[in-house]
Amino acid sequence: MILTDTHTHLYSEAFDEDRSEVIERAMKAGVSRFFLPAIDSSYVPGMLELQQQYPENIYLMAGLHPTHVKENFEEELLQVQRVVAEHKVYAIGETGIDLYWDKSFIGQQKEAFARQIQMAKDHALPIVIHCRDAFDEIFEVLDEEGTDGLSGIFHCFTGTHEQALRAISFNMKLGIGGVVTFKNGKIDTFLDQIDLEHIVLETDSPYLAPVPYRGKRNESAYLLNVIEKVAEVYGISEEEVARITTANSKEVFGI
Ligand SMILES: [Zn+2]
Repeated sequence: MILTDTHTHLYSEAFDEDRSEVIERAMKAGVSRFFLPAIDSSYVPGMLELQQQYPENIYLMAGLHPTHVKENFEEELLQVQRVVAEHKVYAIGETGIDLYWDKSFIGQQKEAFARQIQMAKDHALPIVIHCRDAFDEIFEVLDEEGTDGLSGIFHCFTGTHEQALRAISFNMKLGIGGVVTFKNGKIDTFLDQIDLEHIVLETDSPYLAPVPYRGKRNESAYLLNVIEKVAEVYGISEEEVARITTANSKEVFGI
């Protein structure tokens, strides 16, 4: 089985003590492709270093996370441009809108999202969207900017069935992770009505660990717990889930 973690913050401080063991455990579990979303410029050196250590396995993105959009977002967006120009990246992200933590930068968040959609189009890159309490706002920006030729992922998808169909209508895959294993996660109630061709797997580690690790630090090896649940929901084998979702990840990222 070749498993793909389409969203992991392996460069996070949470892994400073044992990063190489975490990566080794994941590889032993069959997870050999790691896509690293960006947060802001402060993490870029660590991401580049990690990619150099594991050039066959680690794929980088460039972007500005919505919860890191502040007064200096213009400057940060210039840094994103620079990373895209100087390094090989496979997506713009994570970008989007997050109104759960803080609504005070909503205008700037929308602007930064729109500009990153533009960047993705300019460079023919997919986009990785972070959406928290903001489906209406995200769909509005996508509509305004236009999504012709754009593709990507709604990462950590936690919306309703209707929102899932809307996301798919924008040529987006749904990133499914630990939440699918949660009792109150809800997505497991309609997921089997979404064709598996629209699904990619992710951990979002170190966040959102699946059951039975819920509340603990997440890591890419726990993708096995996600895949087990997804196989159960669809009533197919884990091998089949791995094969299809890894193929989907190749379709999105082009590798
Ligand atoms: Zn993330």
